[in-house]
Amino acid sequence: MSLADRLRALRDRIEQVCASVDRDPQGVTLVAVSKTFSVDAIREAYDAGLRHFGESRLQEAEPKIAALPDDIVWHFVGKLQSNKARRVASQFSVVHTLESPSQIREIAKAEATIDGLIEINIADEPQKSGIRLAALDEFVQECLHCDRVRLRGLMTIGPQVQNAEDMRPYFRKLRERLSEVPKGTWLSMGMSSDSDVAIQEGATHIRVGTALFGVR
Ligand SMILES: *Cc1c(COP(=O)(O)O)cnc(C)c1O
Repeated sequence: MSLADRLRALRDRIEQVCASVDRDPQGVTLVAVSKTFSVDAIREAYDAGLRHFGESRLQEAEPKIAALPDDIVWHFVGKLQSNKARRVASQFSVVHTLESPSQIREIAKAEATIDGLIEINIADEPQKSGIRLAALDEFVQECLHCDRVRLRGLMTIGPQVQNAEDMRPYFRKLRERLSEVPKGTWLSMGMSSDSDVAIQEGATHIRVGTALFGVR
């Protein structure tokens, strides 16, 4: 199957799932996670109509961003080291992985303003990135004090589960806490294996790699 075929199948699927819960598919942004895939593969996806792409490493993303059209909206979805946060803010439109005051201090020095999402460690897993829900209110305040961050909402990756259905309580919990982000409307949750459940639970951004580009 070509990338265009896979994209068509995914879009059909998104429409079906949205219809099943009475949501407008326009409310779901498909972020094509292109990490490890080439500029040519991204261009093929661009030509098929995609405009939102996600990358998880700055060094890998910079040459891709330079080589590809300017109307792409780049989303940073990887672990964000503070010493790279300023450069990430200048290269990416959206950062999904805000989790520490030191990142925010660095982004504050950037020239550009980003749309930001706070990453939540939704199942309270040790060694997992993201903040715990108990720390959310305090970190929201940190973000709100930074002019360079337009705080949009929450993101989670979630635990490894056997069945996508097992993710539902976690996605639901993320949605329930969105009200703690003033004016927050974005929920970045769901990947190739669990985007249906995420959409049913209110995802506004699904981050899909494998289902579009193939196995990494
Ligand atoms: C790689 C990655 C994805 C995409 O995962 P797939 O299973 O390939 O769809 C989504 N979100 C994040 C944060 C990732 O690192």
